Amino acid sequence: MIRLFPERGGWLEVVCGPMFSGKSEELIRRLRRAEIAGQRALIVKPRIDDRYDIGHVVSHAGAKMRAVAVARPDEIRGLVDGYDVVGVDEVQFFPPEIVGVIESLVDRGMRVVVSGLDQDFRGLPFGSMPELLCRAELVDKLQAVCHRCGGPATMTQRLVDGKAAPADGATIVVGALEQYEARCRSCHELAQPAQLAG
Ligand code: ADP
Ligand code: MG
Ligand code: ZN
Repeated sequence: MIRLFPERGGWLEVVCGPMFSGKSEELIRRLRRAEIAGQRALIVKPRIDDRYDIGHVVSHAGAKMRAVAVARPDEIRGLVDGYDVVGVDEVQFFPPEIVGVIESLVDRGMRVVVSGLDQDFRGLPFGSMPELLCRAELVDKLQAVCHRCGGPATMTQRLVDGKAAPADGATIVVGALEQYEARCRSCHELAQPAQLAG
């Protein structure tokens, strides 16, 4: 299959997949290349989690690029003047208004690269990701290595005290004592909802 980038005007690229699949790494790689080519590139991310470096996107393997953390999608409009390429990391955490903001940047002729989880820990579509995947010119779904069997992983496993989390937990839990693993579909598990468990 041959994929061609549009030659003019704006467009939208989506990089999705489970945790640890290299989404942030790929976002950084694409924006770095744009900078090397002399374009102006900016990464924004949701101001949801202050535990990590708020001024950078940092990948699990240590790749790093400066980023601006924003509280609401609307703030992005005022930040992007003069930029050719805009990256949005962890796009699934933004409220639905992110779709209109991204469309308006593309309409202004910008190349927008978004990255984020396509599925939540239950395996359900995450936030505005379905809408963005549908609107994008280019889509990449990355795979991680399944922590359990070593096969290609497309899902994110939430663990509480080392055991599979129940499906009725909150979708977004920031700063909680939880762990995540990449898993393939057959190794992915959901515990019984807490109120049904024995
Ligand atoms: P994402 O943004 O998708 O969570 P990152 O770009 O932050 O991913 O990190 C990707 C890096 O994570 C890989 O290059 C690899 O070094 C590391 N890594 C850790 N665990 C795994 C795993 N199970 N599968 C693949 N890569 C992993
Ligand atoms: Mg990431
Ligand atoms: Zn597996």
